[in-house]
Amino acid sequence: MPEGDVVYRTARRLGQALDGRILTRSDFRVPRHATADLTGRAVLETVSRGKHLLTRVDGGLTVHTHLRMEGSWLISPAGRRPPPGDVVRLVLANAEWQAVGVRLGVVDLVTTAEEDRLVGHLGPDLLGPDWDPAEAVRRLAGNPGLTIGEALLDQRNLAGIGTVYRAETLFLAGVSPWRPVGTIEDVRRIVALAQRLLHANRERERRVTTGDARAGRGTWVYGRAGRPCLRCGRQISRGQMGEQPQERLIFWCRHCQPGEPTG
Ligand SMILES: [Zn+2]
Repeated sequence: MPEGDVVYRTARRLGQALDGRILTRSDFRVPRHATADLTGRAVLETVSRGKHLLTRVDGGLTVHTHLRMEGSWLISPAGRRPPPGDVVRLVLANAEWQAVGVRLGVVDLVTTAEEDRLVGHLGPDLLGPDWDPAEAVRRLAGNPGLTIGEALLDQRNLAGIGTVYRAETLFLAGVSPWRPVGTIEDVRRIVALAQRLLHANRERERRVTTGDARAGRGTWVYGRAGRPCLRCGRQISRGQMGEQPQERLIFWCRHCQPGEPTG
């Protein structure tokens, strides 16, 4: 599942292919915008906001996309055949490059003035130019009874964390994902750790939170259920948390991250 780092890189790649160039083709393969045509307009820029992508186009329009579970943008020289099948949701192309959005979870076209309606609810963007850790802490503290594991995934608190960064951040903080936010002394430290991890990985193709890029060594707990904790040697636990079915997986070390509720 793409997290903030992947979305950030995707925005950059889209920018390199599309920014400042005139669209020679746009093909919205979603019913709602099937007749939309952006041909002849210049692309101004693509920015990421948390896990959302906003491609701003000349004339006050914004193409809003979200990768959700398995979406991606494939960028190739213009004229290349897109992948077969019905997975393509959107094509934006200029004379040199084409960007093909496959399996995108959201494809929308709005006026740029309306962007706030789409992303205005998001908390501070961990990789944004306006990253505001104090505001993220303030928002997290607003629901002290919620587990920190659930609170970190709520994009209204802070934007960009998915299940991988949630698990890795809480391991590094030594905090159980099951602890209510209100019982944690130093939420600031957790927020700072999350930002540091995403920032460190924003240019990397392969995510590493341990500093060890060797296969199977890149994460402390994520994807390591039943294997020995890299710190204490005890078995890593795996569980489900929260209500969004696609974002429930949690991994943690019961020894290094004490404090889960009993019973
Ligand atoms: Zn451990």
